[in-house]
Amino acid sequence: MKLQCQVEVVNRKHFSLDVRPKNKYLKSTLALGKEPKDDKGYFILHFSTVNKQGTKYRVSDMKNVFVKFLNEGKVTLRFTEPCHDLCIRSEVIQLKSFMRLLQSCITGDSANVKLSELSSLGLVSKDMAPTKLTINNRSEFPAKGLPRTLESLYIVGLNLCNFRRDILLLNHLAILDLSKNEIEKIPPEFGRLPNLCELYLSNNSLGQKEDFDWRWLLGPGISKKLKLLDLCANKISMLPKDIWKLQNLVTFKIDFNKLERLPPTIGRIQTLRYFSVSNNNLVTLPCSLMQCRLETIDLSSNKFNSDTVGAKMANYTPWELCAHTLVHIAAKAVLRNKLYYAPNIVPYTLVELMDNANMCVCGKPVLNNARFIIKEFQLKDFFRVVVFDNNGDSSVGFECFFCSPKCYAR
Ligand SMILES: [Zn+2]
Repeated sequence: MKLQCQVEVVNRKHFSLDVRPKNKYLKSTLALGKEPKDDKGYFILHFSTVNKQGTKYRVSDMKNVFVKFLNEGKVTLRFTEPCHDLCIRSEVIQLKSFMRLLQSCITGDSANVKLSELSSLGLVSKDMAPTKLTINNRSEFPAKGLPRTLESLYIVGLNLCNFRRDILLLNHLAILDLSKNEIEKIPPEFGRLPNLCELYLSNNSLGQKEDFDWRWLLGPGISKKLKLLDLCANKISMLPKDIWKLQNLVTFKIDFNKLERLPPTIGRIQTLRYFSVSNNNLVTLPCSLMQCRLETIDLSSNKFNSDTVGAKMANYTPWELCAHTLVHIAAKAVLRNKLYYAPNIVPYTLVELMDNANMCVCGKPVLNNARFIIKEFQLKDFFRVVVFDNNGDSSVGFECFFCSPKCYAR
């Protein structure tokens, strides 16, 4: 019989040496077994996360059994050799049946005892709390739902159409791979996952619908922790303007989609280092991207060399660029000083205005959405490694916003 429990091993020798024991409770398995070729020889094997080989205690070496707190799920077994106390904490009913069997072993009431022999006991403790799970086949989904202890979960290539809602309960989840399925949407509650660092959603059907709901990506939990986002080979034609809320994102892959434009706010993700957006339909880039300290950018197979660049050269007067409303001036001050704002403090329209703020070529916020001009810049002047397919000429049209006539004139 095996008991899943928590065990603290107290070495009583340490007490006599007056050494303070530094033990603590560890997830363990206790196995009660029988010696081969010895009808009366019973033993307990103790496996734990740090002791995978197991320690063997003979039942005949047991000196005391303390069961005063059995009803609270706690007992202590005291052995003479080795002189250890096993302090056990477990679920009450399981612990009681374990203790009943142990009692039968001690009293020699062998009629009640049916135990496996030493050789047949697995010598590696079963991990009570799985942290990693790979599901290769639809039949492998655990009947009781996904274990809440999971830290990484891989459900790849099963052609799942629906997002599994039991994933929403996995508060420890750090890595989630749902690549190669047919998922079209993800519930907004997903954004509350507090520990997710890496999210792989490549080769799905996200963004297929016109009004694709992005709230799952910008929720309060996920936006603070997410470091890697892989959305390659979906059907995304637009990214949300508040994508900049992913304030820890380092790697962003969105190759093989249908993007025609990047949100001008994307440069507000200051942590971004690896950005790959090849095989889309981009014509220009937002100037805020120049403010990102990107290590690598992959822009191959887009539509940068199309003629629209020259056509959009607008001619603004400095007056149009420097005239601001009071609201814009105030909002700029809030953004520049990184003051905290939220819908419970200021009206929602202001939150929206500031959330959607663009960036000037100099990096300062620009509230005015309408006035931008397209200027050509060399990609290699801004990014360390550029993957681009224009034969050495890395000039691309950037949508440039301006915070002042001074920046405009530059
Ligand atoms: Zn400026």
